[in-house]
Amino acid sequence: MGLFSKEACTFCGKEVGMMHRSKLKTKEYICSDCRNKTNPYARMDYTSRDAAQRMMEAMPQDAAWLDQEIARLEDENAEKKIRFVVQDRHDYDLGSKHVVYTCVHTLGVFQLYCSDQSHYAYNPVLFFDHILPYRFDDGNTFFADARRMEIMDANAKYATVSESKDPDGKITSCELIIPYQDECIQQIRISSSVRNEDECKAFYALADQINKDRRICIEQYWDDIQRKERMQVRNLGDTAAAALKAAVKGESVEATVKEGLETANAIEEGKVKQGLFGKLFKK
Ligand SMILES: [Zn+2]
Repeated sequence: MGLFSKEACTFCGKEVGMMHRSKLKTKEYICSDCRNKTNPYARMDYTSRDAAQRMMEAMPQDAAWLDQEIARLEDENAEKKIRFVVQDRHDYDLGSKHVVYTCVHTLGVFQLYCSDQSHYAYNPVLFFDHILPYRFDDGNTFFADARRMEIMDANAKYATVSESKDPDGKITSCELIIPYQDECIQQIRISSSVRNEDECKAFYALADQINKDRRICIEQYWDDIQRKERMQVRNLGDTAAAALKAAVKGESVEATVKEGLETANAIEEGKVKQGLFGKLFKK
């Protein structure tokens, strides 16, 4: 033990010194190379060995899923001759960092890529419905239900900016803080030193943009849920009427009902990756 002793990485077994490792919540060590396969916004002291393992598996899957969904939506738009950008992109200079913020409203996801994250293997896919103050979730299904109002509060401005000042009252640094419902992350933080108040403006602009996009996503989900429910009610009515007609004519009621069920399933079968939004409204 001690400052210069080497420890083995719990994932790849490599012996690494203090500068090239982090300690996990469950006390094992993770080397920088393995750490770079996890989420850049995750804190290793919040992350158990199992959670780190899951993250390493999820990162490439999420990235592939997003690419595939963007390609699918672009094809759909091209077919319908809609000239609409699927993925919005905004660039910000936050002090010494350059940040690329992208979002896809239809999927309810965003990404925040900082210039100092280039050693990470993946730009993580982040979910708008996870933007809320972290609370421990033991995996029971009532959790999301109990927090429905918090998640669906379109007026909540969860992304905020905090400023640090020197004793003379001059601003020295700014930090963007986004609360996030994920045990390993809990808060997405991007901070940088700034030279003056002007340099803080980009932090506020980015926070505003994220709050605005979150609101758009929530309103879109509401619309989608309500549209689906209207379609289901109509389908139910159509199926009942068709079954009655079939019974009167002595035809197969079973086939009619089966058809109605298939329609119901097709309505429910959203292509949107199921985040908390999806779980909230799953009947
Ligand atoms: Zn390792």
